[in-house]
Amino acid sequence: MAELTDRPFPPGSYPVIVVGSGPGGLQVSYSLSRYGIDHAVLSADEAPGGMFRRWPFFQRLLSWTKPYAPVPHDHPAYQRYDWNSLLADEPEHQALMPGLMDGASYFPSRPEMQQNLETFASRTGIAMHRQPMTYSSSSVAYPSARILASVAMSSSCSTMVLGVKRGS
Ligand SMILES: Cc1cc2nc3c(=O)[nH]c(=O)nc-3n(C[C@H](O)[C@H](O)[C@H](O)COP(=O)(O)OP(=O)(O)OC[C@H]3O[C@@H](n4cnc5c(N)ncnc54)[C@H](O)[C@@H]3O)c2cc1C
Repeated sequence: MAELTDRPFPPGSYPVIVVGSGPGGLQVSYSLSRYGIDHAVLSADEAPGGMFRRWPFFQRLLSWTKPYAPVPHDHPAYQRYDWNSLLADEPEHQALMPGLMDGASYFPSRPEMQQNLETFASRTGIAMHRQPMTYSSSSVAYPSARILASVAMSSSCSTMVLGVKRGS
C-alpha cells in the first residue's frame, strides 16, 4: 500500500520540484514537460485546481470566457476573450474552458473552472503527488528556506518552483 500511495514522485532526488497544483503549478508543470525538464509536482491537494476547488461562498468567477468571438479558439488573439483557460502549444489543449461551460453566463462557475483545470491536467498528462509541505513558526522570515529544508527530509532538488500563494 505504501508503494501505491507514494506514486507518482516518491521521495527522492529531482532536478525541479513544483509545489502546488493550482493554475500556477499546473501551467509551470506543463511548460517544464514541453521543455523536457524532469520534475515532480507535490501538492497538499488530492486533485488539481488549487483555490478553485474551495471557494466557500462565491461560486462564479470574476474573469470571463466568451465562447463566441471574432477569432478562432486556437488563435492567440482569443486569449483576450478567454481569461480562464491555461495555455498550451497543442490546439486540442487550448481554450478548454468554453467547452465546459453550460451557457448560463460568460463568467464560469467555480465547479466549471475546477473541471477546466482537472481536464487540462488529465489531457496534458500532468501527474501530482499529495505531499503537504510543512511550515513552522520560524518560517515567517525565510519561508522558502524552511520549505526547502522540509523537502530535503524526503526529497532533494536543485530548483524549486512554488505555486502557492502566501498564506495558502
Ligand atoms: C474568492 C476568490 C475569487 C477569485 N476569483 C477569481 C476569478 O474570477 N478569476 C481569476 O482568474 N482568479 C480568481 N481568483 C484568484 C485565483 O483563485 C488565484 O489567482 C489562483 O488560484 C492562484 O493560483 P496559484 O496556482 O498561484 O495558487 P492556488 O490556486 O492558491 O494553489 C495553491 C496550491 O498550493 C498548494 N499548497 C499550498 N500550501 C502547500 C503546502 N504547504 N504544501 C504543499 N502544497 C501546498 C495548495 O494545495 C494548492 O494546490 C479568486 C480567488 C478567490 C479567493
